[in-house]
Amino acid sequence: MVQVNMQSHILGANELLARKNRSLFGGNKVLALNLMSSPGSGKTTILERTIETLGDKIKIGVIEGDLYTDQDAQRIEKKGVRVVQINTEGTCHLDAGMVGKAYDTLATDQLDLVFIENVGNLVCPAEFDLGEDFRVVVISITEGNDKVLKYPLIFREARVVLVNKIDLIDYTDFSMDRFLNDLQQVNPSAQVFKVSGRTGEGINNWSQFLLREVRDKQSNLA
Ligand code: MG
Ligand code: ZN
Repeated sequence: MVQVNMQSHILGANELLARKNRSLFGGNKVLALNLMSSPGSGKTTILERTIETLGDKIKIGVIEGDLYTDQDAQRIEKKGVRVVQINTEGTCHLDAGMVGKAYDTLATDQLDLVFIENVGNLVCPAEFDLGEDFRVVVISITEGNDKVLKYPLIFREARVVLVNKIDLIDYTDFSMDRFLNDLQQVNPSAQVFKVSGRTGEGINNWSQFLLREVRDKQSNLA
């Protein structure tokens, strides 16, 4: 009997395209981040605030992954940065091929920072390398305390975790101690920023971190 392992074949092809994207991002001296979360955690709002904070200091581009709509891309476009929309037509994650094509359209000017907003989903996006410099997971405190241990892979592979909707913490049962403890078990080196896309709390710290990361990458490649 011949057994074909479909998934590992697909992932193998993805690895090659991710490597291609990564060398393109390096050649263009652009920092590329893969932003992942469950639906409704506030990725797009955080992007809006981040663009407001950094938009006059560096050139930002956004690749917006969504199942069907372009509502998020329209919101980002209003902030005056270049946006390319990927509609996955029901596919629940982005892959490196989709991102490579979108980046070709996006990067007509020199960019410093590209956000790739993945499809809202805590499961399979974690399995697809897009060629990003690092991964950022957004978790909002209204999602409860069970996410880190239920979806360990996505948290394990994140360099940064943004804990969003921090302004609502007094209205929920979310325990920050428990969250940090769970994250410590899964990914002790993850950097955590507590933010609120709604009030802007913590956005400056996160934005300054991004600015340093962009400068570091650009000076390492200079
Ligand atoms: Mg969104
Ligand atoms: Zn998927």
